[in-house]
Amino acid sequence: MYNQDKYEAIIGLEVHSQLLTESKAFCTCSTKFGDTPNTNTCPVCLGHPGALPTLNEKLVEYAIKMGLATNCHIRQSSIFARKNYFYEDLPKGYQISQYDQPICYDGFIEIELDEFSTKKIGITRIHMEEDTGKSIHDIDIDTLLDFNRCGIPLIEIVSEPDIRSADEAYKYLEQLRQILLYLGISTANMEEGALRCDANISVRLRGEKNFGTKTEVKNLNSFRNVQKAIEYEIQRQIEEIESGNIIHQETRLWDAAKHQTRVMRTKEMAHDYRYFPEPDLVEVFVEDKFQNEILNTLPELPLQKKKRFIKDYSINNYDATILVNDYDLANFYENTIKCFSQPDKNKNKLVSNWIQTEVLRILSEQNISINELNLSANNLSELIELLASDKISSRIAKDIFPEIISTGKNPNAIIKEKNLVQVSDDALIESIVKKIIDENPDNVQKYKNGKNNLFGFFVGQVMKETQGKANPKIINKFLEKYLS
Ligand SMILES: [Zn+2]
Repeated sequence: MYNQDKYEAIIGLEVHSQLLTESKAFCTCSTKFGDTPNTNTCPVCLGHPGALPTLNEKLVEYAIKMGLATNCHIRQSSIFARKNYFYEDLPKGYQISQYDQPICYDGFIEIELDEFSTKKIGITRIHMEEDTGKSIHDIDIDTLLDFNRCGIPLIEIVSEPDIRSADEAYKYLEQLRQILLYLGISTANMEEGALRCDANISVRLRGEKNFGTKTEVKNLNSFRNVQKAIEYEIQRQIEEIESGNIIHQETRLWDAAKHQTRVMRTKEMAHDYRYFPEPDLVEVFVEDKFQNEILNTLPELPLQKKKRFIKDYSINNYDATILVNDYDLANFYENTIKCFSQPDKNKNKLVSNWIQTEVLRILSEQNISINELNLSANNLSELIELLASDKISSRIAKDIFPEIISTGKNPNAIIKEKNLVQVSDDALIESIVKKIIDENPDNVQKYKNGKNNLFGFFVGQVMKETQGKANPKIINKFLEKYLS
């Protein structure tokens, strides 16, 4: 690893996010993913001469939503611009984007560095634009083009160069992803290309005021690749400098298979996009009323929710992180807690444990979300009540859980029906313990001679006598009494 005391990395991220609108940014074509190639197209998104764009209001609404969630200023009057370049997946020969008047600017988000500290990462701007088509490189045929993606609305979120490590970049990106999901404006799925990230990276000697020459790294199509590519590029730049070479301003591609970045184009080859105002669209004027309406729909954001869960429900940072990571799971947790008649830290923790083990296991096995699982908050809270009050053992809770899900019956009904209520009758359990001890004199002798693991044998025998219903705490109490 590079010498962290000597060098410091300066990183800024440019993140593109596809928005979940039903129709495209400037025409009424569907944005549905996975349709037959080139079926969701029209003269506007194919750039036929004379076809005129009309702005989708949802694009503006979602961009403002993201801006407000990331503490940005919203520009009351902004305009679109044409970004001109030639590429086969861009039939118009230009992309409609925003240039010097982005709709959102000067914001920030907070990332958690560890359990105790957060850091603000500045957001330079968020602007609206349209996606390009998709090139499919087929070795046997040729390059094929699918224009279904042409004109799908995007926002580009540009950060300040406030990020100092691959780890911080990862956390920033993860926070953005969660915010997009909480707002419900993007699937934010990196593997499917709904979230894309380019990184601007430079290094400088620690204490140095000026930035070093930066490179832009592209093709970071997973969270892991973002981290690996940044690590690699920091290391590469430091090695170049240490060997007396200079860093060239260039765009580099991350090659995940070879685990390295390589030059894609140099500064001399950089595009001149010849931006100019889009003459076919009028300025976007954001009325206060519109902005306030959006503000009123903003949900509680992930980091706020996490802090509140820790404070209100007395769960630890680790538990809160897992619960808050999924918006619907966080709501399910909270709804379950709300079903309890009395607030109880112990039960809050039990619900959290149960979700993290039993519930998440089933979700991952069946590859479904919590909303698709046939489990009501009420039924889970009832199960936890039974467990917390020792009416059933955790063994029985686990045994009946699949039935709660498959039938939707409430746990109380199931345990009554199957006669599974835990036996906590001291006198009864004591008599069974005595009986088991009387019947196994050899094992009692071995235990007393130091074979401690026989304790489990005795517990098992008592359980067998009671069909698994005896309260383990009471069994332990009497076994300890009679075996010592
Ligand atoms: Zn269209």
